[in-house]
Amino acid sequence: MLDFSFTAAQEEYRSKLREIALGELLPLYRENDEAAAYPTEQIKRILAFAAEFWSGREDERNLIVSGITAEEIARGDINCVLPALGPAVSHEFLGEASPALKERWLPGLLSGEKVIGLCLSEEGAGSDMGAMQTSAERKGDVYVVSGEKNSVSFLNADVFYVFARTDPSSSGWRGLSAFLIPRETPGLSFEPYEDMGCRSVPRGILRLRDVETPTTSMVGQEGTAFPMIRKFFDVNRAMIALKCVGAARQTLDETVEYTKDRHQFGVPLASFQGVAFPLSEAATLLELGRVLSYKVLWMRMQDIPCMTESAMVKWWVPKVACEIVQQCLLLNGHKGYTRHVPIEQRLRDLIGWRIGDGSEEIMKLLIARDLLGKEILAR
Ligand SMILES: Cc1cc2nc3c(=O)[nH]c(=O)nc-3n(C[C@H](O)[C@H](O)[C@H](O)COP(=O)(O)OP(=O)(O)OC[C@H]3O[C@@H](n4cnc5c(N)ncnc54)[C@H](O)[C@@H]3O)c2cc1C
Repeated sequence: MLDFSFTAAQEEYRSKLREIALGELLPLYRENDEAAAYPTEQIKRILAFAAEFWSGREDERNLIVSGITAEEIARGDINCVLPALGPAVSHEFLGEASPALKERWLPGLLSGEKVIGLCLSEEGAGSDMGAMQTSAERKGDVYVVSGEKNSVSFLNADVFYVFARTDPSSSGWRGLSAFLIPRETPGLSFEPYEDMGCRSVPRGILRLRDVETPTTSMVGQEGTAFPMIRKFFDVNRAMIALKCVGAARQTLDETVEYTKDRHQFGVPLASFQGVAFPLSEAATLLELGRVLSYKVLWMRMQDIPCMTESAMVKWWVPKVACEIVQQCLLLNGHKGYTRHVPIEQRLRDLIGWRIGDGSEEIMKLLIARDLLGKEILAR
């Protein structure tokens, strides 16, 4: 049976979260961008609110709740979303970590006191993650990790989730393992980028030179890191899509109000079909993206494979969200082009998510493999 409704508790959570997003996050959105200031206090506030809201009914705090978090928080500040998604997503992210690693890192990550950075990409391994060169060689009770990770979001992290090749004779997706390496570990160094958007979340290069990390810092079994993270991508791609929906929907709502208030030729702008139709189209597209994103989360909760559907929302929703925000900017006229309204900032922030976590072309390749069979594709 189909059921598209949220529970009463989820609706109440959504509405309270929207108050926080619009009342507390949105007023600081531009300031954090200009100062490139990581929104620690805001993230802690969201996590504390959510923990209190779901207290005594933790079993209801599932992936759908994380999806609602992504959507609503992005209305205020899209950069607060990923660290604030809560335990259901952390379980997907670090599900295979040992109890000792979970005990060490999860409480801080779930309160916002600690930050984690995911380190996959390298200079020669962007879309082709299987070309990863960073090595981890076992020496007694430690692995010695050397290499250079680029494009690490949350370069301010307290702990880095580093993917490296533990089997030097392996290639492609095989022979990769993952480690949780604390920031203060000797041998780590950092080089931040100057980004066009998402400026409150530092992104950059993490260098690892002969970094010794205990064997106990490995997440999951040796050599199994790729299937582990691939499973997480399914969920993360839906979260990225939902945060794009939230940011674009907020822009649409603001633009609806603006075009109803602004008069030209003696009537509200919104009374012209040339203005109303793009707004209608935007509302339609966002609702479609939203429904498919929640379907991905629902599929994961039912243990139904959802890699294809998650690739669909990851390529399509950030693209559509960017197009909608750009269209809204135009409908706001010259005021939309200023920094006095958050539209240009949302556009800069959203563009990054057309690339981050896998580009549109790579997502289409995943869908094509499912659709056509991978034998027929050139690569
Ligand atoms: C905002 C943001 C946050 C990020 N955060 C992280 C992070 O936290 N951790 C991390 O490890 N990485 C992160 N990344 C890196 C991201 O995952 C990579 O940028 C992405 O996988 C693409 O790799 P690349 O940039 O090297 O591009 P390339 O792989 O060089 O691709 C360049 C272009 O060529 C296209 N292309 C490549 N191969 C093919 C093909 N086979 N067919 C058709 N087209 C192709 C791509 O689609 C793209 O348009 C982030 C990136 C961004 C923008």
